[in-house]
Amino acid sequence: MIDGLPTLEDLGDVDGRRVLVRTDFNVPLETLADGSRRITDDFRIRAALPTIQWLTERGAEVVCASHLGRPKGAPDTRYSMEPVAARLRELAPGVELLENLRFDAGEEGDSGDFVTRLVSGIDMYVDDAFGAAHRAHASIVGPPRTLPSAMGRLLAREVEVLLELRNHPKHPFVAVLGGSKISDKLGVVEALLEVVDGLVIGGAMCFTFLAARGYPIGDSLFEPDQVDTCRRLLESSKPIHLPEDITGVDADGAYATFGRRLPPGAKGFDIGPGSAAAFSDIIMDARTVFWNGPMGMFEDERFAKGTRTVAESMAETKAFTVVGGGDSAAALAQFGLDDRIDHVSTGGGASLELLELGDLPGLAALRKAPNVG
Ligand code: ADP
Ligand code: MG
Repeated sequence: MIDGLPTLEDLGDVDGRRVLVRTDFNVPLETLADGSRRITDDFRIRAALPTIQWLTERGAEVVCASHLGRPKGAPDTRYSMEPVAARLRELAPGVELLENLRFDAGEEGDSGDFVTRLVSGIDMYVDDAFGAAHRAHASIVGPPRTLPSAMGRLLAREVEVLLELRNHPKHPFVAVLGGSKISDKLGVVEALLEVVDGLVIGGAMCFTFLAARGYPIGDSLFEPDQVDTCRRLLESSKPIHLPEDITGVDADGAYATFGRRLPPGAKGFDIGPGSAAAFSDIIMDARTVFWNGPMGMFEDERFAKGTRTVAESMAETKAFTVVGGGDSAAALAQFGLDDRIDHVSTGGGASLELLELGDLPGLAALRKAPNVG
């Protein structure tokens, strides 16, 4: 058990049992000239192997189930699981894979009928899909109502790391936040302010904070309806570090570096070199760092420097480092630094929600499974 949550060991004897494993096989696909689809990265399939193998080595019959893309509750060949099934047959022969869960509207609607069909002939349930654990969908919350259930290895590791970060971080604990919108992350910013020793803000969201402090931000991306909220957050007793310089383009579209005051027509696309150095110092001096959201529009090499400096500091620091968020993880992978981070979460939305609320619908369901307590 981890924090009242069952692990594979809590399933008891799995020999000869049919075990439904909810995996996150939402892999990137490309469409070939002949219309067929091909997996471009099988990382998520390989990531599920420790759980699958733990079960098969002990004699279980494993049936995997996942969603893929966003079909609208009806079969849609573009989102067929077949390319995933083919790769799974190579990696884990003999393991079954159900068709895309979202081909049935009952999945997202958590319909009782759909759950009944899902668990028919199944003896036990394992959830290893952290990226979907914040959704109260049928395959996440349904099976633990009746079946002995457990977290798989991937889910258990996510929960262990993120709850430790939230509940018992080593101080100083700093959170580095960026990305496009403060409104997406307001809940987590407020929750983090309770537990961190300082917040570092970059990305497009820094302009809403800079505007709240009264700085002119030119034509940079910002959220006018969040300025008051940012002003309130800035009154917190915890230090909130904003960039002291900004890189972007001037009114003529030419690459330029500014201080905190952007001239009319200028657009900020990255934190400047002074801010990157200051943020790096903060990361190096911390004992725990959580990072979510790129510092700038890193997809454009001219505006990737701030994100790169933060990524390098995350790799260098002696602090315990955790990264959440799809684009932040992509940036780390692009810089080849992902294996130098203590934990890169596989769930963007789920990791933020777990940090904010301390629980997720998928975890709450497992806590109430018949084999717990
Ligand atoms: P994550 O997926 O890591 O949570 P987000 O989805 O919140 O991150 O934000 C990532 C996006 O934010 C990236 O596409 C990046 O280009 C964009 N972004 C970051 N800073 C800026 C900026 N200053 N101006 C415009 N876009 C930005
Ligand atoms: Mg994103």
